[in-house]
Amino acid sequence: MRLLLSIALTLCSFLSFSQDEVIIRVGLFDNEIVRSAKISINAGQYEVRDGSTPLAQVSRNNIFSVTPVGQELVLSRDGIKLGTYKRLIVASKQWESSLRLKVRFNTGREKTNIYPDNLVITAKSGALIIVNESDIERYVAGVTEAEAGKGHEVEYYKVQSVISRTYALANMGRHSTEGFNVCDKVHCQAYHGMSRWDENILIGTYETKDHVLVSSDIEMVTAAFHSNCGGHTLNSEHVWRKPLPYLVGRRDTFCMVMPHSHWEKTVSKTAWLNYMKRDFPLDSFEDSLSVLAFFPENKTKFFSDSLRNLKMTKMRADWKLRSAFFTIHEYQDSVQIIGRGFGHGVGLCQEGAMRMATLGYEAKDILHFYYRDVHLIDRRQIDFFREDFD
Ligand SMILES: [Zn+2]
Ligand SMILES: [Zn+2]
Repeated sequence: MRLLLSIALTLCSFLSFSQDEVIIRVGLFDNEIVRSAKISINAGQYEVRDGSTPLAQVSRNNIFSVTPVGQELVLSRDGIKLGTYKRLIVASKQWESSLRLKVRFNTGREKTNIYPDNLVITAKSGALIIVNESDIERYVAGVTEAEAGKGHEVEYYKVQSVISRTYALANMGRHSTEGFNVCDKVHCQAYHGMSRWDENILIGTYETKDHVLVSSDIEMVTAAFHSNCGGHTLNSEHVWRKPLPYLVGRRDTFCMVMPHSHWEKTVSKTAWLNYMKRDFPLDSFEDSLSVLAFFPENKTKFFSDSLRNLKMTKMRADWKLRSAFFTIHEYQDSVQIIGRGFGHGVGLCQEGAMRMATLGYEAKDILHFYYRDVHLIDRRQIDFFREDFD
């Protein structure tokens, strides 16, 4: 089966497929209350529409402002009111157009970002609901920047683009009840538009255009990633209960020289023991000693939710620990927690992947290192492979 799949993948790379580009609808500033918006052109050409009717052409110097009144929107151009509407679309008239959007929140805080393609604005209970309708690749470049930061190798940006694209396409229904596909927060993937893109990010995204990671049964994978695994990644079921065949822990020495490979935290011994006693009884004096001299081998006995009631993920959140990979040492009235890595530890280790890219590994090698038995294919070929192997 795997040989057949490899042959089919090779053949397929010579075939060309034509299908429409994917547009993604991103809910901006999710869970924040936006009281007003100012919009102007950053690049390209635009018009403002109410449904399909153009209300106004937009010239480069115009500043449009939108404020909510109940369920409606008041639209002004350069300070002069144009009318009241239920829904406004600031629509691009040519490829590669982008808008500057400045919003003011209910707290008085303001934020300015640049977004590609269209903005769709409605009002709900006196707040603006703003959706960025963007070509998926321009969105992926924005997510790659927000999730990875600047200054990395192109091969690393290819890796981040593939996993961000895969995640987005596999989660297009995540916010369907709210009228958009994904939000712009870490709940989905962080996205601040295109204000800080750099050239390497764009190359990374466009050189992997349309490519996604699929499992051996040609399903798009849950492309989990985290900052630093601390030397060993984890199986999916160790963190989220559900095992997935491509999210399997492995040793990773690449990240050990990177900034988030180690951490330390000191907390009060009394607070630590009280916390442990609250969530589950320490049966004996030996148990108490063991939670004060905790090593990863004791995890199953003391902290596994299958035997006791304390989940490592909860413990991480309660004590604001960078990872669940740590040892504990008793020191006078304190316990010293010495940890490794940063994040949940499942899937791709970003700092390990960055290091691999610096050492000359290619994006596909890095993806295969962190995800077991996966294939990198063009999203438009998924149906072709499914039919072939069903
Ligand atoms: Zn979300
Ligand atoms: Zn790692």
